Amino acid sequence: MSGEFVYVDFGAVRIQQYLTRTAGLRGHRAASNTLARATADEQVARVVGDLAEVNPEAGQADGVVSLRFPAAAGDRAERVRRVQDRVLAHLRRALPGAEFQSVWGAGQSYLAVYADILQPKARAGRVRHDLPPVAEFPLAVPCRMCHTDPAAGTEPVADGELALCLDCSMRNVPHRQTVADVRSPEGALLREIGLGSAPDDFAGLAALGGAASGGNHLATVAVDGNAFGVFFKALADEGRRDTRLRKAKREISAALSTATREALAVAALELPATMEHERLCVVPHVVGGDDVLVSLPADQAWWFTLMFLQEFGRRVRTETAQVIDRLNELRAGRLGLPALEPPTASAGVVFAHAAHPLNLLVESAGQRLAEAKRAFGGRQASVQWLDITADGPEAPAHPPLPLSLLRTGQGGESAAAAALSRLKRVPASHRARLAEAVRASGPLTAAALADRVGHLTAVRPFLPPFDRPGQPAASGIALDAALNLTRWWPCA
Ligand SMILES: [Zn+2]
Repeated sequence: MSGEFVYVDFGAVRIQQYLTRTAGLRGHRAASNTLARATADEQVARVVGDLAEVNPEAGQADGVVSLRFPAAAGDRAERVRRVQDRVLAHLRRALPGAEFQSVWGAGQSYLAVYADILQPKARAGRVRHDLPPVAEFPLAVPCRMCHTDPAAGTEPVADGELALCLDCSMRNVPHRQTVADVRSPEGALLREIGLGSAPDDFAGLAALGGAASGGNHLATVAVDGNAFGVFFKALADEGRRDTRLRKAKREISAALSTATREALAVAALELPATMEHERLCVVPHVVGGDDVLVSLPADQAWWFTLMFLQEFGRRVRTETAQVIDRLNELRAGRLGLPALEPPTASAGVVFAHAAHPLNLLVESAGQRLAEAKRAFGGRQASVQWLDITADGPEAPAHPPLPLSLLRTGQGGESAAAAALSRLKRVPASHRARLAEAVRASGPLTAAALADRVGHLTAVRPFLPPFDRPGQPAASGIALDAALNLTRWWPCA
C-alpha cells in the first residue's frame, strides 16, 4: 500500500543498569557519551546507508534508534534483517557490554505501528536480541572494574594497571576527556542552561549541597510517565478515522520528548545549588521520551523532583490539550470509554551517602518509582522515597504520596507542603525524638511529647483527629512519613 513504511526500532535493554555498572561517575559519563554518539542520527544514517532512513516521526530518546523504509520495496523481512545486522554490529562495537534488542513492523504511521505492533511485540519478547559475547576461554580473568565480563587485556588506569573487559576499556578515558558530549543527556542539558558542568565524581557532586546538609549525601531520582501507553493507543486508534488527529499523531512523540527535556532544564536551572554555584548541580544519566534518571545533592532532591513533575505535567497538558479534547469528543460517542486525562509523571527518590554504589541506588529508585505508580494506578503524579542512611535499604514503611499534596512554587504551595516547612523548623534532634516516639508508641504519644517542648502546632497537621485515631491526618500525611520527609525537605 502506498505511503506505508516499515519501521525498525533498536534499544539498549536495562540501559540504566548498564550505564551504572561501573562505580565512578567518570565511567558512566564515558558510557553515556559513547551511547549518545553511537545512536546519533548522522552516525546511524552512515551505518545504514541507503537501506533505511532515520525515522522523523519518532521523538528523541537516549539509547534508542528508530529507522524506516518504504514498505513497497522488495522483501521486507530480508531488508529488516540487513538493517538489523548493520546497526547491531555498529552498536556492539561501540558498547561491548550492553544488551540490545530490535523490533519491527509496517503501517501507515509510526504511532499506530508502535502502539499496535512494536510495543506488543516487545512486551511479548518477540524481538531480536543481541547479547555481549560470552568468554571464549572459561578461565579468563574477570574484569577488575565491573566484575561482570572477562578481561580482554591490561590497561593503565589512574593508579596503576588493571585487567579490563572491552566495555570498561571504553569507559577508561583520561580525565580531560570526561566532559559531557553535546549529544549525551548531560551535554544537552548543559547546552540548554548555558552553565559550567557538574563535578566529575560523586563526592564532588554531594559537596554542592547546602552547608546544613553535611555535603556528603546524594539523591537518585527516577521519573517515568503515567498513562502514556493509554494515550498513545487511543490516539493511534482514533487517528485512523479522524483527519484532525492525523497531524497530531505525527508530531506528538517529538513534542512530549521536548516537554521532558524542557522540564529537566527548568528544574535544573531553578535549583538553589545551581544558582549558588553557577554550575550544573544535577547529573542526568538517562533522558528518554518520558523517562529521566538523575543524581544530585540530597538537599536539592525535593526541589528538583517537585519542580520537574509540576513543569512536566504543565507542558504535557498544554501539548495534549487539543488532542485530548478531540479524543474525548469521539470517545463520548461510544459507550464504555471513559474520558482521557492528560498523562503525568511519577518519581522514585532515594537518599544515600555519596559512596553508596550507584547501581544499587538506581535499582532502589526504580522500585520506589514502581510503588508510586502502583499506589495511584498511574492516574496521577505521585512520589515515593527512601532514606537509606536513616532507614536501611528495605522498602519504606510509609505510603507513596500524590504530587498534589506536596505542591510548591508557582501554582501556590499546598497546605501539606507549608506544614512540612513548619515542621522542618523544629530542631532535627527534636524531630528524631518525635520519630522514635511514633515508632515506639504511636502518634498520640509523640504529640504529647511535642506539646511538652512547645512543638504541638508544628506536629498537629500530621496527627489523626484526637477523637478518631484511625482516621487520616488533616494534611493527608501521617506523622511518621512527615518526619521522614523533613530530613531532606528544603529549609524555607
Ligand atoms: Zn569491565
